Amino acid sequence: MQAWENNIRKVVPYVPGEQPQKKDIIKLNTNENPYPPAPGVVAALQHMDMDLLRRYPDPTAGKLVDAIAGFYGLKSSQVFVGVGSDDVLAMAFLTCFNSDKPILFPDITYSFYDVWANLLRIPYEVQPLDENFKICADDYKKENGGIVFPNPNAPTGVLKPLDEIEDIIKANPDVIIIVDEAYIDFGGVSALPLLKKYDNLLIAQTFSKSRSMAGMRIGYLLGNEKLIRYINDCKYSFNSYTMNQTAIAAGVAAICDKEYFRTCTQKIIDTREWAKEQFTALGFCFEDSMSNFVFVRHKDYPAEELFEMLRKADIYVRHFKKPERISEYLRITIGTRDEMEKLFAVLKQYITR
Ligand SMILES: *Cc1c(COP(=O)(O)O)cnc(C)c1O
Repeated sequence: MQAWENNIRKVVPYVPGEQPQKKDIIKLNTNENPYPPAPGVVAALQHMDMDLLRRYPDPTAGKLVDAIAGFYGLKSSQVFVGVGSDDVLAMAFLTCFNSDKPILFPDITYSFYDVWANLLRIPYEVQPLDENFKICADDYKKENGGIVFPNPNAPTGVLKPLDEIEDIIKANPDVIIIVDEAYIDFGGVSALPLLKKYDNLLIAQTFSKSRSMAGMRIGYLLGNEKLIRYINDCKYSFNSYTMNQTAIAAGVAAICDKEYFRTCTQKIIDTREWAKEQFTALGFCFEDSMSNFVFVRHKDYPAEELFEMLRKADIYVRHFKKPERISEYLRITIGTRDEMEKLFAVLKQYITR
């Protein structure tokens, strides 16, 4: 080891899902939306004034912030936007989790949380999900420096009802609670109404899943004005121009088309409910999912074997080897009905051969 390496900040990075360059695969491994972005997004990009690229963008991304605030009936001062929810969550961790006490999150959850905590030197304590993969509210009533969890949780897909979320917030008035609602648009109930009652609640959402724009990188936080101001102070101490001109224009167009958004999310919900029946018929077990993926285990076949078999058939799903408790599960994104029919045909042929 070189002497200078002693001064390096060493981290174990997050590993994103595979993005194969191969064409004609069925990609059900990173929870992308199988449908294209709203037609208005295409038009906004086609009609982009190229002169805008010469200039710096609006550092406040005002048009996008206003559009998001309008969609939810909030004030623009309650919205913070960034480069995907990974960006806004990292900024929220940096701003809100500045205590010597450990932050709390589930043992099985979005695997970026412990990465940010380690990067930012935030102490943390994981709380095990129960045997049905549920988050137990009582585990979050001990002394802590903040709380974060996704709802529905990832990669389990399990949704926590609003009264249980409120129970956790109510028990923790002295810290910030971040509810990561990356998948809330697929039939869940958002904690949004609780913002009126609790000034320590922060909600994170993204355009990557329900708005078919993972490639554009737009995420946002919803919270009370003062909290959003603190987060903006940290952002402006780091990088003023997070949102580029194209992301702002495309984001506004996506938010404006409420009907397209509703139709696409409903199609995915319908396909998911149908897919649940197919999984059950083929001998898979799973907790009920309210997201755009299902987290399944087969009663006879090891997850790794099915993962490799599907991969050979050019169907990509996600397999987490760690923690061991979930190593027998596959996380399978809900694609189009056609893609799912192909998935089930391949599974059926393998399982009933
Ligand atoms: C996908 C995902 C995100 C990040 O999404 P971005 O693409 O960065 O907006 C955040 N949290 C959870 C739980 C996710 O699944």
